[in-house]
Amino acid sequence: MIVSSEGGKDSSAALLRICLKARVLQLRCCVPQIKCPWATPQNTISCSLADVMSEQLAKELQLEEEAAAFPEVAVAEGPFITGENTDTSSDLMLAQMLQMEFDREYDAQLRREEKKFNGDSKVSISFENYRKVHPYEDSDSSEDEVDWQDTRDDPYIPAKPVPTPKKGFIGKGKDITTKHDEVVCGRKNTARMENFAPGFQVGDGIGMDLKLSNHVFNALKQHAYSEERRSARLHEKKEHSTAEKAVDPKTRLLMYKMVNSGMLETITGCISTGKESVVFHAYGGSTEDEKEDSKVIPTECAIKVFKTTLNEFKNRDKYIKDDFRFKDRFSKLNPRKIIRMWAEKEMHNLTRMQRAGIPCPTVVLLKKHILVMSFIGHDQVPAPKLKEVKLSSEEMKEAYYQTLHLMQQLYNECTLVHADLSEYNMLWHAGKVWLIDVSQSVEPTHPHGLEFLFRDCRNVSQFFQKGGVKEALGERELFNAVSGLNISADNEADFLAEIEALEKMNEDHVQKNGRKAASFLKDDGGPPVLYDE
Ligand code: ADP
Ligand code: MN
Repeated sequence: MIVSSEGGKDSSAALLRICLKARVLQLRCCVPQIKCPWATPQNTISCSLADVMSEQLAKELQLEEEAAAFPEVAVAEGPFITGENTDTSSDLMLAQMLQMEFDREYDAQLRREEKKFNGDSKVSISFENYRKVHPYEDSDSSEDEVDWQDTRDDPYIPAKPVPTPKKGFIGKGKDITTKHDEVVCGRKNTARMENFAPGFQVGDGIGMDLKLSNHVFNALKQHAYSEERRSARLHEKKEHSTAEKAVDPKTRLLMYKMVNSGMLETITGCISTGKESVVFHAYGGSTEDEKEDSKVIPTECAIKVFKTTLNEFKNRDKYIKDDFRFKDRFSKLNPRKIIRMWAEKEMHNLTRMQRAGIPCPTVVLLKKHILVMSFIGHDQVPAPKLKEVKLSSEEMKEAYYQTLHLMQQLYNECTLVHADLSEYNMLWHAGKVWLIDVSQSVEPTHPHGLEFLFRDCRNVSQFFQKGGVKEALGERELFNAVSGLNISADNEADFLAEIEALEKMNEDHVQKNGRKAASFLKDDGGPPVLYDE
């Protein structure tokens, strides 16, 4: 779109410049494909060096001016802004930016009015639904308002109306939103815009009694998709890139909310992708409320996302189905909730371990299937697993005794069996062995608890014996040392038979006296939290 050297022999450089100026003006006025009215193309004659120079200068100036005036032009794309009408994109963008600014001011005003209206009264009216700015921008919006995790895989499938809890309202204190409000704001398509990618501005539709026609909604949806792809491209090198690829959009949104609320500073990237979970590193932020339960967020956090694809979890049923702490709930839950229960289980187990002083991650927050905990490691580098680290024989011996002690503490003080203990789930950090990955850990009275313990002992024993620790106990001795049981069988088959007999005895005891009679349920923060449905 440059003026080509079409000035005739007799057209002076000055005329050309005027012509260029006019051209620039035309471009500004967004009229595409307009030819210079003064210039009549004459193919045969080329212009002077001075002309070319001024032409290039004019071109440069034009580009500069355009870039300054409409910084966003080049990146805009999507159904609204395609091919021929590129020139109008900046207007649209500007209008959107102005609208956003207006909305912000409007909301600030609304907040002031709400505050004035409610004063100190105990019952308060929320103006939330009249707000204009997209909820993702709103860091203090109640986290549990919409259980959209249950809208299943595709956010764009026809959505069920947002369920209102039985109690008839959501939120607490000043943020109460009643179901009547939801009727007002819950027009299907408008509400579904909430499922668009984080950061996608859907304007002031949400929160108003707006009915979007399918046509408009589909256009928006299309645009949201391409915007998401575009932003993924643009931010390829930035902090969210890995996160975006490794988890589904809804999980990403939950993680985004954690950043948006200030709880996390940034999510830097993925540390591990396993069969059942994806782990991210993040820098911790801070919680705003200074209430007594507010926690200090660790400088570095690990975010463990339990995978919501169900396949991998099928064969883990036995760990949780027979865990009496979760038994009553198990049968009633849908698979998605069961996955959340894994996260919850890990949280409870870590809490117990923390109390016993076992080196392990500290729980920061549990949100659905996402567990945020302290990061074991430094400067984004996770502590190595015992499997990976090269220890001196002295350190190896030290690590062994620590492990033995950890297992005893876990069994006696936490009433837990790790059930997946091996050099893969022990980290070496600051001269200590740290235990991780305890979502599958069970109480020893679990119908298979002692078998799990035996397996743990075998892994530990083999690892340290192969690693040259002469003092390392054999698997059966280790089992007795940890459990305090005195199983005397001197071969594995008999040993296992005795273990199973013990488990059976315990089960019979439980059948007769109930699970509680076993009386080792320790307080780990009360019964498992029930999710508000
Ligand atoms: P999985 O079930 O996928 O094995 P883990 O809890 O073992 O899940 O986590 C996988 C990997 O992520 C670990 O091997 C470890 O390297 C890393 N990791 C997990 N939690 C933390 C943490 N709190 N700090 C540092 N690294 C961690
Ligand atoms: Mn693991």
